[in-house]
Amino acid sequence: MKLIILGCYSATPRAFTNPTSQVLDIQNHLFLIDCGEGTQVQLRKHRIKFARIRHIFISHLHGDHFFGLPGLISTLVLLGREAPLHVYGPKGIKEAITLLLKLGNSWTNFPLVFHELSSREPQQVFEDEKVEVHTIPLDHRVYTNGYLFREKPGPRKLDIDAVLRYNIDRCYYRNIKNGRDVLLDTGEWISNEKLTSDPPAPGSYAFCSDTVYKPGIIGQLKGVGVLYHESTFLEEHKDLAVKTKHSTAKQAAEIAAGAGAGKLILGHYSVRYGNLEVFREEARTVFPDTELAEDGKVFDF
Ligand SMILES: [Zn+2]
Repeated sequence: MKLIILGCYSATPRAFTNPTSQVLDIQNHLFLIDCGEGTQVQLRKHRIKFARIRHIFISHLHGDHFFGLPGLISTLVLLGREAPLHVYGPKGIKEAITLLLKLGNSWTNFPLVFHELSSREPQQVFEDEKVEVHTIPLDHRVYTNGYLFREKPGPRKLDIDAVLRYNIDRCYYRNIKNGRDVLLDTGEWISNEKLTSDPPAPGSYAFCSDTVYKPGIIGQLKGVGVLYHESTFLEEHKDLAVKTKHSTAKQAAEIAAGAGAGKLILGHYSVRYGNLEVFREEARTVFPDTELAEDGKVFDF
């Protein structure tokens, strides 16, 4: 799994910083998560092929999280895209985007499929044979969801030496990888654990955009591999965090610690702080394995 941060600052695009957007490279999918203004420029800068993006997940309808979407869709029209594009986001996103397309009489020539969300409970929004995606209901000034991306467990790992030793025909390999025992021509049963080892543990990634401190999500995040959690403020401005329904770095760390996350990535910084390192220092007092998102940074996990 690979996470590419296209933008990770709050509020407005600036000369050297971009609002929220990231690309998750997982099991042959490139999932675009949030789409702040300038996202398409960032995609080009990082040489990410537009055509490979088939699913876009939007957390909420504040401008710094989705004003890049109409521009990106307009560019996809100009590029002659034909493949369907799926957009997941709060109820109202379809009306917002289609109004702009209608006013410009620039309808897409590809299927643009909206999956509008309004539930306050976690729900599965995507699934294929290797990955599933669930919403993480958050608490912000407007209806907001994070997203939890989970790999499904892969097949068991075949021990080639063992299968050769027992002279097992190739046609059984698929069944063995799926956990089945094997009956030899001699009538002897060979149990699966003699022929395979556990597959790599499936990875998971949780994206928690703008939200007030919400410990209620910890249960859903238990054991998550990597947690991105906004930290717009530091504890010294906790009152502002409460008022604007955002979190502090320490609160993000408390969510990570409670969930037993493998790693925490902070982002959505207010530009009032000149030095980002202070966010990491504050979070590390609670959760040591904390890293800072920065525009253009790539995380492999
Ligand atoms: Zn917001």
